[in-house]
Amino acid sequence: MDKAKRKAIIAGNWKMNKTPSEAKALLEEIKPLVSDADCEVIACVPYVDLAAAVETVKGSNVKIGAENVHWEEKGAFTGEISTGMLKEIGVEYVVLGHSERRQYFGETDETVNKRTKAALAAGLKPIVCVGELLWERECDITEEVIARQIKLDLWDVTEDELKNVVIAYEPVWAIGTGKTATADQAEEVCAFIRAQLAKLYNQAAADAVTIQYGGSMNDGNADELLGKTNVDGGLIGGASLVAEKFAAIVKAASK
Ligand code: PEP
Repeated sequence: MDKAKRKAIIAGNWKMNKTPSEAKALLEEIKPLVSDADCEVIACVPYVDLAAAVETVKGSNVKIGAENVHWEEKGAFTGEISTGMLKEIGVEYVVLGHSERRQYFGETDETVNKRTKAALAAGLKPIVCVGELLWERECDITEEVIARQIKLDLWDVTEDELKNVVIAYEPVWAIGTGKTATADQAEEVCAFIRAQLAKLYNQAAADAVTIQYGGSMNDGNADELLGKTNVDGGLIGGASLVAEKFAAIVKAASK
């Protein structure tokens, strides 16, 4: 399957930004700017913004995602949110294993895997984030790190479930730093991820998976990054908070 047949996906990761009313206002700005997009457009927003966000995008081509989800359906997990809670309000996607969760909140490949399986079982589409630290790249173990994350994060995920999985390659050193991986670096690792998927599943299954790049992608560099064979979209932090910049990236992915 060639790139043109894969679904291009541009997803904003708003992180801990925007109150519900601010979220509504930003989505109202984004909607008309991306209405003719020839790719999937998603805004992943803080939990408390989700209900307002889902309501605001009704009737548009913008979809809403959460930024995390717990693996248990319910119970004594103070502060956590379940897949059922997200599904009931109309959330379709969920970002899992973001490096900020791994760095600051003790997320491990084991918990990413539990969340991924729970999300898939509930009919949510996980955007599973993988990526190496700067030190790991300097030690020349990027491929080892990525191979391990892919294998563990997708452990026990079936070939059929894989159809609903999006992978985001996010080199940790490029997130929120203004340092973007070069288009060649992004392509090299996205291609490696696809090769790992082919090993774990098969080539056809791997060819169908949307692999995003994330890490300081913006309106200035999106064209080049998204032009690469194995870069099927973007997970966008900072630039997703500015409607025009986000829309420009969506436009680049629609070419
Ligand atoms: C992200 O949060 O996933 C991200 C890629 O952030 P930024 O675009 O700001 O680097």
